[in-house]
Parts: sequence; C-alpha cells; structure tokens
Amino acid sequence: MHPLSNPTHHRITQSAIAALPGEDREFLAPEADLLIWTYCGFPDMNWHWYGTFAEDPSIPFDRRLPDIRREWEISRYCAWNSLTREGRWYPHWPPDALEATADHFSRAVKTLAEGGYHDALRILGAAVHYAEDCGSPAHAGHIDPPLHLPMERIDRPEMEAAIAIPGYTPRLLGSALETACDGIRERGQKVVAFAETAAGKIRELCEAGEQHEAQSLMVPCAQECARYVADLLHTFCVLAEHARPETPIAPHGCNLIANADLSESDDVPQVPRGWYIHWNDLRDRNGRAGLVASDHSPALMVESPPEQGIHWRTPWPRAARVRLGMRIHLAIRYRTEGPQGSNRCSIRFYTGNTTLVGIFCTDLLPPSEEWCDVGLSAEVPEGASWARVSLEASGGEGRILFRDPRLVRLNP
Ligand SMILES: [Zn+2]
Repeated sequence: MHPLSNPTHHRITQSAIAALPGEDREFLAPEADLLIWTYCGFPDMNWHWYGTFAEDPSIPFDRRLPDIRREWEISRYCAWNSLTREGRWYPHWPPDALEATADHFSRAVKTLAEGGYHDALRILGAAVHYAEDCGSPAHAGHIDPPLHLPMERIDRPEMEAAIAIPGYTPRLLGSALETACDGIRERGQKVVAFAETAAGKIRELCEAGEQHEAQSLMVPCAQECARYVADLLHTFCVLAEHARPETPIAPHGCNLIANADLSESDDVPQVPRGWYIHWNDLRDRNGRAGLVASDHSPALMVESPPEQGIHWRTPWPRAARVRLGMRIHLAIRYRTEGPQGSNRCSIRFYTGNTTLVGIFCTDLLPPSEEWCDVGLSAEVPEGASWARVSLEASGGEGRILFRDPRLVRLNP
C-alpha cells in the first residue's frame, strides 16, 4: 500500500467486505486483499508525476514518487490519463463522485461479463474509491485545504477500530445493470447528505484545533461509507451471479512478455508499454533509466544506478499466471558501456495477493561491449500464482542495455 494513499479508504473497504454474506466474500476472495489495500486507492494515485521528483507541495521535495501508476496500469483501470488527457476525469466530490461511482461500477460489471475477473475487480476498486469520497465530510462539504485533510483524518486507533459495521445486511441496489446504476446514485445521495450534515460541526472543531474530538463525528460518516460500499459490492456480486471466470494459465509456445520488441511506447517515449521503472532508492537523483535506440533498435537502458538499484519490471496486470511445478525460462540480451556495478536478471514469483514467494536470478552479468545472451530457468515455487520479470542494475557509473526479452513456459 502506498503511504500517500489515505488509510481511511482502506479501512472502510475492509469493513464493508467483512459485512458481506459468505457467498459474496467467497466470490471476491482471490482479489479481496488487493481490493482493500490497493485498488480502492487507485484514483488518488492516477497522476503522471508518479515516477518523478514532482514539484508538488504535498509531496516531499527530496523524494521520487514510486511509479505505482505504471506498476498497476492505473490510468487504464481509471479510464483517465492525466498526461495525455485521454478518457474522463471525475472530480472526487459530489455530485461528480456519484457519477464516477456509477460509471466505474458499470465498467467493472461489463469487464467481468467479458471474462476479465481481475481487471473487473481493479475497476471496481475505482468505483469503491469514489463511493467513499462521497461520504467524506471534507469532500461532501467541498472543503479546500488547509482544512480538507483534518476534516477526514481518522488516525486515533480506537476511532479506526470503530469504522466497522457488524450486523449490517447489505442491500441490493438494483437487479440489472441500469437499475443498479440508478440505485448507486440514489443511495450515494443519502451518503452525501449524511456527510454534509456532519461537516458543519466537524469544521468548527477542526478550525478550533480540536481535530481529535472531531474524529468521533467523522466515524459515523465512515461507517455510512462502509454500508454504501457493502451495498455496492453486494450488488456487483449478485449481478455477476457469483460466477468467477477462470484466469487462463500461461500458455505454451509463445513469449509471455507483452511488447517484447519494445516497439510500442507508453504515454511517454522513454517508457515502452508493458514495462515500468522500479526505483529502489527514491532519494537518488543520479541514476537514469529509459528507452533508448542502440544499433538502430530500441533497448531498455539503466545508467549510473545507485547501490540499491534501478530495475525494469513488467507491471502486475501483465504478470504471467503460473502454478506449482511449471517451469519457465527467461532469455534476454544485454550489453554494457563503461564501469559496471552489479547487474542481473530475475524471475520473481508472487502469491495472488502479491506477496513475494521466490526470486530466481542469473549470475551477475559480466561486462560486455558486445551484445550477449543470458538466460535462466525456474520452477514455480509453492504458493506462487504470478511471475514477473525484473532487469536489475546497481552501482557503477556506466550504462547497461537490455533487449529481446523472452519468457516461455517449458514443460506441459
Ligand atoms: Zn479521492
């Protein structure tokens, strides 16, 4: 979970899921952890300065923001790119946030109908985020900084714990997509009204510097959000008829890496689609990484990486679906220029909720001015569901270039 994401969102989602009937919880189970800790934060992390040292007063000036936006392809799931201005941006306050909730809910239902379970749940996370924003006193009351954050901050442990709705029976907001979207808007309107009513007194307390006292008035708003989110999730599960499409296991005979020839770029020319830069030292300003042309074709470059390293990685949504006992093989070409530190390539294995369960690495790559081939095979370890590729450089003043990555499944 990203530290800049407001923890109250995650706590509300957690409480909502806990209140769902067993059948709904079972349906959401493979993605429940990520819905709680990652996906419902997506719309707050959908900014193109992720991955850069942004000159934004709310962000520490000495730190790069990790590129979570590309790591999760958040712009695609939110259907809005703040750099290219493609898609539609929704303000995070009513009435727009109500429309955003219904729109993303509808996209999630349609994506599931097309067979994309994981994609659907990520989009649903965006819907959940906007639903929660509707019930924040700061959002419902249209309060700007500096009072905005104090008016929605719930950080006293007993207040956080009180964001729970045991005994609540989630309501079906509509039995078909269209009626459900109307139901979401109507139900959301009541959540907004509840938060608007509370906002006056919360504002007075925050203005008087009594933010701790104000939290006890914010908790009922957060509980109302949790009820709304529980209704939303329950409605999603019922419309889906609790039928979870199978996620296809990585097939044989093809390269499991998308855009392996690096010909397609993402929203900036320095980053190819299907890759992102994982900056391990967020304070380092020396290291560089980007897509460059070498011998007339594109290559992934890292230059002057800090000791902690800079990695090129494949994003989560493009991870290969694997299962125990499968063997996979990574092959790639590289070449170096100038003094090198430690470079290597790895296949990283994770559980369904992105917990790391195994890393298989090449030996350190010997410096070479000519293009060299390197590869490694790995057997999928216990508990792993996903495999990602990581091309890693650390220390050294020179450059390393990678190209022609190939990830294949070996045994039937
Ligand atoms: Zn928001």
